[in-house]
Amino acid sequence: MATIQTATGAIDSDDLGFTLTHEHVVVGSPPIRQQFPDLHDRDAILDVAVPNLVTAREAGVRSMVDLTPITLGRDAGLIREAAERSGVQIIVATGLYWFLDLHMAFAEPELLTSLFVRDINDGIGDTGVRAGVIKCATQPVMDPFNEKVLRASAQAHRQTGVPIGTHTFVANRTGLDQTRVFKEEGVDLGRVIIGHSDDTDDITYLEAIIEEGAYVGMDRIGLPRPRTSEQRADMVAALVERGYADRLCLSHDSGVMEGYDEALKMERSPDWRYTFIPGEFSAMLRDRGVSDDAVEQMTVRNPRAIFEQTQPY
Ligand SMILES: [Zn+2]
Repeated sequence: MATIQTATGAIDSDDLGFTLTHEHVVVGSPPIRQQFPDLHDRDAILDVAVPNLVTAREAGVRSMVDLTPITLGRDAGLIREAAERSGVQIIVATGLYWFLDLHMAFAEPELLTSLFVRDINDGIGDTGVRAGVIKCATQPVMDPFNEKVLRASAQAHRQTGVPIGTHTFVANRTGLDQTRVFKEEGVDLGRVIIGHSDDTDDITYLEAIIEEGAYVGMDRIGLPRPRTSEQRADMVAALVERGYADRLCLSHDSGVMEGYDEALKMERSPDWRYTFIPGEFSAMLRDRGVSDDAVEQMTVRNPRAIFEQTQPY
C-alpha cells in the first residue's frame, strides 16, 4: 500500500484497480496551440474525451496512466477536468518526447531532472496537479538528445520514486537501448515499463527486455498498424504461455488527437479505444487460453506492483 498522485489528488495504490498503463486524454502540438489558438478547442476535446472515459469506467477501467509528455501537449488542468467529469482516476506524466526540443537540447541534464522533480513534488505550473509518472521516448534510434532525457528521467525517478513509462521504436529494438541507459543510471528496472512493445513480432526481443527485469508494455492494443489486434493477442498469449504474465501491462495508447477527426479515426481504427481491452481483447485472450487470473495479473496486480514502489533511492 502506498500513496499515488493522480490528477484529482492522492489515492491509495490498493484503489488503482483495473489500470490502463499507457493512454492519453489528448495529444497535440504546444507551438500550434500557442501560435494558432483558434485551432485549439478545449471544450471540443473534452466533449470527446469525457464520454470516452465514462464508457471506459462503465467497462471496468478504474484508473489510467496518461503518458502525455510536456512536448506532446500535456495539459494537467484539462486532464483533471476530464478525470473529475468521468470518475476515472488519471495519473499525469512529466517528461519529454523523442523529438528534439531546442531549449532543452542546450540545457544541462541537471536542469531537466530538476524540472521533472518539480512537476512531481511541487505540482505542474499553477494547477496543483502533481505528476505521478515519468515519460521518456526513443525513436528512431537512441540519439544524444534521447539519451540525455533518459538519463535525466532516471535521476528524477531515483529522487522521487515515481515509475518510468517509455515510448520505443521496436524496428530498432530501442527498448534495449533504454534498459542499458537506465541500468547505467542505477535504475531498478522493476520500476520501468518499456512501452509499445506489442508493435514487434520478435518474441526474443521481448524476452530480452524481460530478462533485464523491466515490465513490457503491450500498450498499442487496438491500433491496427503495424500489427493487427489478432497478432497482438497472439503475442500476449505466447508470452503468458511462457510464464511472463507477471511482467506484462496492457493498454491502447489511445486518446483524442488534435487535428485528427475522431469519427475518421474510429472508422480507420475501430478497436483503438479505451474499452477494447476490458471488452473484446480480454475475450480474444481467453480464446487463446489465457486465464482470467492472468488478465487480472496484467491489468490490476502488475500496475499496482509498479506504482506502489514509491521509495526514492
Ligand atoms: Zn503514447
